[in-house]
Amino acid sequence: MIILGRQGSGKGTQATRIAEQYGVVHISTGDMLRAAVAEGTELGQKAKVLMDAGDLVPDDIMIGIVDDRLSKDDVVQGGFLLDGFPRTPGQADALVGFVGDRLKLAINLDVAVEVVTDRMMARGREDDTPESIARRLELYEAETAPLLSWAEDRGILHVVDGLGSEDEVFARLQKVIETV
Ligand code: AMP
Repeated sequence: MIILGRQGSGKGTQATRIAEQYGVVHISTGDMLRAAVAEGTELGQKAKVLMDAGDLVPDDIMIGIVDDRLSKDDVVQGGFLLDGFPRTPGQADALVGFVGDRLKLAINLDVAVEVVTDRMMARGREDDTPESIARRLELYEAETAPLLSWAEDRGILHVVDGLGSEDEVFARLQKVIETV
């Protein structure tokens, strides 16, 4: 499955809980990039500049990273929950090329722009400056929001209201996952 939703919608937190509950592998491309930044790898150095500005890391790089990860045994056996990928139509096409019909579910964790902006301002991550938050939200509308119709066309889209406590949102997610 994949989890879509604006940055600050609570995707990461909920994805961690889903992975624990259902034993799927949680693949967060943001976490992978942050690990590369912390290790100071070539990828990390390149990604850091883009991440700090709220820009996207180029598709070819992201697609390569995800392709590698999806081919590992744990994913092949346990299934995957992608968090933060796909973020562009090019990434979505590549994903379908990799997994085809094994992609069963796309959840849009829906939280309004005003709410995610306040949440990001409050969490204080290094890349959460007002400029980078605005840029990320702008890119979400331009590049990632079109994936909602892509997922709908594939018949796999479910919208879950992301407002409320962590437990309330998780209960809504469980309902959808167990139905599918
Ligand atoms: P996230 O933790 O998902 O908010 O990602 C943090 C930052 O990593 C984003 O603002 C992007 O700069 C970069 N990033 C993460 N995933 C992707 C992706 N699939 N495509 C491009 N850039 C990404």
